[in-house]
Amino acid sequence: MHHTNRPALAGKTAVVTGSTSGIGLGIATALARAGANLVLNGFGDPTGALAQIEATGVRAVHHNADMSRPAEIEALITFAAQTFGGLDILVNNAGIQYVETIENFPVERWDQIIAINLSATFHATRAALPIMRAAGWGRVINVASVHGLVGSVGKSAYVAAKHGVIGLTKVAALETARSGITVNAICPGWVLTPLVQKQIDDLAHREALSIEDATLKLLGEKQPSARFASVEQIGGVAVFLCSEAASEMRGAELKVDGGWLAQ
Ligand code: NAD
Repeated sequence: MHHTNRPALAGKTAVVTGSTSGIGLGIATALARAGANLVLNGFGDPTGALAQIEATGVRAVHHNADMSRPAEIEALITFAAQTFGGLDILVNNAGIQYVETIENFPVERWDQIIAINLSATFHATRAALPIMRAAGWGRVINVASVHGLVGSVGKSAYVAAKHGVIGLTKVAALETARSGITVNAICPGWVLTPLVQKQIDDLAHREALSIEDATLKLLGEKQPSARFASVEQIGGVAVFLCSEAASEMRGAELKVDGGWLAQ
């Protein structure tokens, strides 16, 4: 008998929000390597991201839903199901950051961060669960943060949103506990992406440091490893959460933080 080596996620469909860059693109690439077809989402020209995914041999499309708009989020989920005939894996990853003290925090920035980093996860999950329930299998993976579990000064909106994502993860895990659907969160520490590069550049400017010194200072304040986690490593954790071994992990928070929260 001849057995082909079928990738673990072959035939599955994944939506990764905010996957034109950074962690989302890393997760999408890892899921594609495991065989899943991909719906990418996010701002900017998606040509390079689509090519990176298609190079693995799977099918990939892009939908430009603005994750701050509930109707567009629903359209993204419908588009995925119509394009590939189902939706098996939802990765709620799109997110933004803004750093300012509470008394100086622009109100419209607060609303935007809550909308993109928290409410979008509710809207996408709400739209995806009926499709997953009909199939009897599903994976919802929420990219939270160490800031879903602890605070840092200047990050009120982000920390509030990420704590909200952890709470939502728990409730969604409970509501699906008797099904083949699991809902879990990944909590990265510092990962070098454009979102973090901006914070390094701001620190270098504010304290007249070289980029190298600002990088070491940023890591040194929080992350005992003094190294970034990589988007490939976060992708590997997402693939694990889609595996049979993770089938009874429900409502978990998987820290990938170089020891940040071990302190
Ligand atoms: P990034 O800036 O590299 O990527 C963000 C992605 O989200 C991009 O594709 C962008 O186009 C998209 N996006 C932003 N606003 C959007 C909107 N309104 N609608 C649709 N797409 C939108 O950032 P990243 O560092 O890769 O962050 C990804 C996720 O990981 C975020 O939720 C972030 O909070 C989380 N996270 C990042 C780190 C880190 O150290 N980089 C640590 C913990 C958690």
